[in-house]
Amino acid sequence: MAYDGHNIFAKILRREVPFFAVYEDDATLAFMDAMPQADGHVLVIPKEPAETLFDLSDEAAKALITTVKLVALAAKTAMQAPGLMVMQLNGEAAGQTVSHIHFHIIPRFPNVPLRGHAQVPAATDTLKTFAGQIRNVLQA
Ligand code: 5GP
Repeated sequence: MAYDGHNIFAKILRREVPFFAVYEDDATLAFMDAMPQADGHVLVIPKEPAETLFDLSDEAAKALITTVKLVALAAKTAMQAPGLMVMQLNGEAAGQTVSHIHFHIIPRFPNVPLRGHAQVPAATDTLKTFAGQIRNVLQA
């Protein structure tokens, strides 16, 4: 299917909408999920325009998983989370709601259930604080 450049992550990549970045390199961008399922929920996207994992080039996929690993450890450390979930959805039937491939990085804590998927917007100050904490770990 043709890539739709009107999706919200394409707009984030073009800096047309605000977001809280935690990491960026030539091929990838990581930023806070605006409706997090847990504290410290980060999204990692490739700069290559691709809707699903199956549309992504191997080169971009390698860069993407490298950033996922880097940012996941930083989020786990910054949030002092004993566990961390990595999630990636392909297609509406799988629950994908934004048509630019992304990995979810979700810190997990014992007895803390996940909040709903893409349901409740977090306070801007909260997202800013967590982004700063994760960036600090990456820059240490
Ligand atoms: P998907 O359902 O496609 O796997 O996940 C899309 C994710 O994007 C959801 O977790 C949702 O909360 C997040 N999201 C949706 N719109 C925005 C937005 O405008 N900004 C940010 N930072 N995250 C968003």
